Amino acid sequence: MTFDVEQAKKWIMTFNDKIQENKEYLTELDQAIGDGDHGLNMARGFQETVKKITEGKYDDLGSLFKDVGMTLIAKVGGASGPLYGTAFMKASLALKGKKEVDIKALVEALAASLDGLKVRGKAQVGDKTMIDVWEPVIEYMKNRETIHSKELTDLSKEKMDGTKELEAKKGRAAYLGKRSIGHIDPGAASSYLLFASLAELFEEGEVAQ
Ligand code: ADP
Ligand code: MG
Repeated sequence: MTFDVEQAKKWIMTFNDKIQENKEYLTELDQAIGDGDHGLNMARGFQETVKKITEGKYDDLGSLFKDVGMTLIAKVGGASGPLYGTAFMKASLALKGKKEVDIKALVEALAASLDGLKVRGKAQVGDKTMIDVWEPVIEYMKNRETIHSKELTDLSKEKMDGTKELEAKKGRAAYLGKRSIGHIDPGAASSYLLFASLAELFEEGEVAQ
């Protein structure tokens, strides 16, 4: 499979649909261990992003992801806007001038996104943040000859669920200390939806790298 501008748009649009559908759920998760705005932040940010990329014409993946990243940084308050924004800006640099890429190059771009997230937020695996989904998912995609759509979705979900038992070390939830245990991290939940949306692009079954 090759990943091109149309597929990238489809990814963002599918993600936006899932965010809008799960807005209340993400809000509830953030009400438990944060300030209750994650659903609203993501819903507003990705609504604006979809509007922007629907109106825009893009010759390459880099310019598309740049618009996604800049819109998120400009429109979303809270920690998640700059974090998701950084992820898409890093991917945009890695895909600059590329009309279409193979999955290997897409995964390399997403690995650059993960590095950017970690530099920006200074969180590690185990800190109960979106990194607890991103890092194992990128590792999975890097190390497989073929990426199975269902494996990708299942792994993202498992890692999201895994944040429940963790004590938050970064972000607002860290103020709660041990009281953050027992709740899924909101950013891990939205990241699960991001990778589940990516998995939907891959046809039934599997994708050759
Ligand atoms: P805010 O915390 O400013 O209200 P959101 O509620 O939109 O912003 O986003 C919260 C999510 O952001 C958390 O659930 C967590 O996954 C993620 N997050 C917060 N701080 C960090 C960080 N330093 N590194 C990585 N992710 C983080
Ligand atoms: Mg919040």
